[in-house]
Amino acid sequence: MSDVDVGEKLGEKEKPGEKPGEKPGEKLSIEARLGLVAFTIDSEAHIKVKEEVCKECKLRYCLFVCPAKLYTEEDGEIKFNYEGCLECGTCRIACPQDLDWNYPKGGFGAHYQYG
Ligand code: SF4
Ligand code: SF4
Repeated sequence: MSDVDVGEKLGEKEKPGEKPGEKPGEKLSIEARLGLVAFTIDSEAHIKVKEEVCKECKLRYCLFVCPAKLYTEEDGEIKFNYEGCLECGTCRIACPQDLDWNYPKGGFGAHYQYG
């Protein structure tokens, strides 16, 4: 079963002021879950793309694999915004080049809520 609109499928419309996922048994969509992640942003990027290398890269997997969609292409150039990084490591694995990838420094980065 899809995790979207479970309550709606069961005919249980949200009440005013009620957020998705507050009804018992209702699951949050991926987008709603990602919306719960809080970030403490460092002034220095923990992942650095190498512009010269990216210019020559034909594969550009980073554009497709990042769940937070932090890699974009503008006028043929790769742009990367480290803010909002979920620290999943997918781009590190997918990039065929030596991506300068590190976890954020202590206290910075994503703060997940569990439960
Ligand atoms: S896959 Fe790696 S080298 Fe290619 S554009 Fe993306 S970050 Fe640059
Ligand atoms: S670590 Fe994950 S969320 Fe962060 S930039 Fe790479 S793919 Fe995107």
